Amino acid sequence: MLKACKQILIPLSLMALMFNNSVWATNTDFDFSVTPVADNVYSIIAPAYGLPSPENKGWNSNSHFVVTEEGVLVFDTGSSELVAQGIRRAIKSVTNKPVRWVVNSHSHADHWFGNAEFADTGAEIIATAAALTIMKQDGPGAVEFFSRVTEGATGTTRLIHPTTLLTQREKRNIGGVEVEFIFSNDGHSPGDVLMWLPKQKIIFGGDVLNSDWMPMIIYHGNVDNLINTINVVAKLNPTIVLPGHGKPTTGKSVIRDADLLAAVWSMVKAGYKAGNPQDEIQKQISTKLGPIYRPLYKNFDSAIKQQVEAMYKKQQ
Ligand SMILES: [Zn+2]
Repeated sequence: MLKACKQILIPLSLMALMFNNSVWATNTDFDFSVTPVADNVYSIIAPAYGLPSPENKGWNSNSHFVVTEEGVLVFDTGSSELVAQGIRRAIKSVTNKPVRWVVNSHSHADHWFGNAEFADTGAEIIATAAALTIMKQDGPGAVEFFSRVTEGATGTTRLIHPTTLLTQREKRNIGGVEVEFIFSNDGHSPGDVLMWLPKQKIIFGGDVLNSDWMPMIIYHGNVDNLINTINVVAKLNPTIVLPGHGKPTTGKSVIRDADLLAAVWSMVKAGYKAGNPQDEIQKQISTKLGPIYRPLYKNFDSAIKQQVEAMYKKQQ
């Protein structure tokens, strides 16, 4: 009886997979809700965090948008054109104004692979020159990776690069809204840019800022500059913090992240200098910092391992 059931179930689940793939390919499945965060500022929050998978269909990062007098600015476009089509529909539920500007916070695939959806209607795409270099280098491989690990759910993605390149911190007026672009100096990854709305005291952090999850240390990031940038943001005293992953939060999370990273970083450096092995350093850090920070993040225990490992490697 059991055997027979199994024989029936396997083909059925395969069929379900095939059916779902065809649904994803025509994109009727991304139904995003919009969270208003302030006057004319909205977030589209991805429930998933971490690697793209068949379950999350590659949608693992947030997008945010600002409705200006002259059109819409979108901050990060998601990890595929299919995701970006969902983002566009979500924007449409709020305003009929066209998307005229796109900002890519950095070069990681989940923040810019939706660019094509907005480039087709002539949006100006803004990112840093340093991010563009990495986009060109890593983009094609990342498309294949996203398609493979989501079992095709990300569909076909055309890589559209930014057209306006920032090279240093600068202010701009976009559709009547004052905006300042702040550089992390490669804190999370080469060419990260954050966007600050000084009047509303809102910071768009990309992956430099966090809410529910611990800061992620990446092999091509610069930990000192990440900590410095988080401190720069803390001094701005933001009212609202919009991270690349996780729920919108407040300036308190920024101070928490700066303190945590500074503590972990100095303990890893000291432990390495003393010749202690990585796993011992990690245990010491978990014991000392766990009681303070475990309740403040969703993933302290797994992320502290990742942080210590990445920071330890940077000592070698
Ligand atoms: Zn990233």
